Amino acid sequence: MKFIGAHVSAAGGLDQAVIRAHELEATAFALFTKNQRQWRASPLTDEVISDFRQACEKYNYTPQQILPHDSYLINLGHPVEDALKKSRDAFIDELERCSQLGLTLLNFHPGSHLLQIDEDLCLARIAESINIALDKTEGVTAVIENTAGQGSNLGFKFEHLAAIIDGVEDKSRVGVCIDTCHAFAAGYDIRTEETCEKTFASFQRIVGFNYLRGMHLNDAKSEFASRVDRHHSLGEGNIGKTVFSYIMRDSRFDNIPLILETVNPDIWKDEIAWLKSQQKQLATA
Ligand SMILES: [Zn+2]
Ligand SMILES: [Zn+2]
Repeated sequence: MKFIGAHVSAAGGLDQAVIRAHELEATAFALFTKNQRQWRASPLTDEVISDFRQACEKYNYTPQQILPHDSYLINLGHPVEDALKKSRDAFIDELERCSQLGLTLLNFHPGSHLLQIDEDLCLARIAESINIALDKTEGVTAVIENTAGQGSNLGFKFEHLAAIIDGVEDKSRVGVCIDTCHAFAAGYDIRTEETCEKTFASFQRIVGFNYLRGMHLNDAKSEFASRVDRHHSLGEGNIGKTVFSYIMRDSRFDNIPLILETVNPDIWKDEIAWLKSQQKQLATA
């Protein structure tokens, strides 16, 4: 089964995100459980939690179809001790919020060395941050997203993801989310069936599909291997539609949230319908 949706707004309440996903005829969705550009958020009230849970039940979304994303401010590989502590505390809070909402995944960007520590130390620090957070929480899997490699962001090579996973003690609660725009911008070609085969074979070899917990389906305004993160609508950017059709027809991407973070929310419903139609092509072929 393919779970297909978009990163919807939670303006007006977390339950509103569920309704927005339903209106898109989505079978998956992503959301922020707090303002993604602020450190602090008031705790979730019982009312917010029960409204969210009821909406999920009403519109048939199970935890495996929902991929919450953490705040952009968090840097689990921060080179400075005080700032690292602040990020770790915020990350634990994010995991706890997911847990309260009955969610089982939390998607996050691994971290940045800010040119102050080397890559290996930063990757080890990220793994240690995940260990601390998993130890203090229950039931939620930490889902590391690959990045475009902008600035000093790590996670742009599959080897980075593998190194972080290697340092995580509880392998049952760590996974990855692959963003197609980020992969392309980081130098993984996915423009043709052949390059898709090659890129996902190398993902299997280095990380493994057993760790894949979600995908972000984005075309790219950025150039190949540019290390620039600029999303585009499906088929309108430099990647083209092939990879998205490929993913819809490949069972390695079954039963995980496949989330659009494309630039025009007005066409999300059409993009979701198109993705669904690609899946059907196999059934009739
Ligand atoms: Zn993404
Ligand atoms: Zn991005």
